[in-house]
Amino acid sequence: MTRVIHLRGVAIGGGNPPVIQSMCNTDTGDAEASLAQIRSVQEAGCQIIRLAIPRAEVLPAFAEICRQSPLPVVADIHFDWRLALGALEAGADGIRVNPGNIRDLDGVRTVARRAAELGKVVRIGVNLGSLEPDCERRFGRTAEALVGSAERFVELFQGEGCQELKVSLKASDLRLTLEANRLFASSSDLPLHIGLTEAGLPETGFLKSAIAIGSLLAEGIGDTFRVSLTAPPEEEIAAARKILEALGYDKGRPQIVSCPTCGRTSIDLLSLVRAVQAEVDILLSQGKKIPFRKIAVMGCEVNGPGEARDADIGIAGGKGKGLIFRHGEPVKMCQEAELLPFFLQLMRDECQ
Ligand code: SF4
Repeated sequence: MTRVIHLRGVAIGGGNPPVIQSMCNTDTGDAEASLAQIRSVQEAGCQIIRLAIPRAEVLPAFAEICRQSPLPVVADIHFDWRLALGALEAGADGIRVNPGNIRDLDGVRTVARRAAELGKVVRIGVNLGSLEPDCERRFGRTAEALVGSAERFVELFQGEGCQELKVSLKASDLRLTLEANRLFASSSDLPLHIGLTEAGLPETGFLKSAIAIGSLLAEGIGDTFRVSLTAPPEEEIAAARKILEALGYDKGRPQIVSCPTCGRTSIDLLSLVRAVQAEVDILLSQGKKIPFRKIAVMGCEVNGPGEARDADIGIAGGKGKGLIFRHGEPVKMCQEAELLPFFLQLMRDECQ
């Protein structure tokens, strides 16, 4: 198990549920726009937000963002260690540095000492797209090169007393990302920030990210993650929540099991599932606690009764009708017209 670090009260590692993060795509120099986006992603379920620090001129606005942000703020630093120092002084809860493009190691040591003094978190974020040249020469563009680069910076930061560290090893190649993270996790207890980089548009990027992030999380690797998409950050958060939901992490949200439909389906199953999903969203948005772990909405008698019985509440469809189950027992056979209203009312009655 990894060790636990804290970003302004958010626990990362040590078996805590994976923490969702994203990155603002606003101009960091525009505090108002950035704060509006931070509030929007927070509403969507984001827990940590990162902002680019491309030049020193954005630091005053960044300081204002740190003061007002409802989420822990991480500064994303490339090339210039002085920007990392400036971000720490501006009040960042953490910084991300890229070993591949910060050449001045004395400057990096200065950053490490200041982060240690302030007790701030540092992410050592290695990317295949900006790999340290000597690591690339020695290992090629491989998992070993990503891990080697990260380990060298970890040693440097730890040597200066900086212990609040996490690491990321990212590539756009799915297999390479899996390999690098597995390799690092096999020999380190530092928390891992996982994800694919440059995953692309939501249609393909979500799928690739879900495979990469989902595989690692299912193996117990990964403590925080970002679904990087060429899309607004709110879409990244929606994707992240879907991944956690599929893995059974989203405890407050029941899993909805529904069959794919086939030639046996004799009720409007798609409308039923959509209505049940919408009801779950409404109940959660009202702050209600849903006491169901699993809701089943099934098309026919082949798998319907089994799944519906196994769920906390479920429907096994039939020809123009459906049998409703609750806690494994049949409750009522309803004609299709009364099936949905009866089922939704049953759900509402059990939610506080
Ligand atoms: Fe088809 Fe029935 Fe299976 Fe649904 S449960 S896919 S309707 S066989």
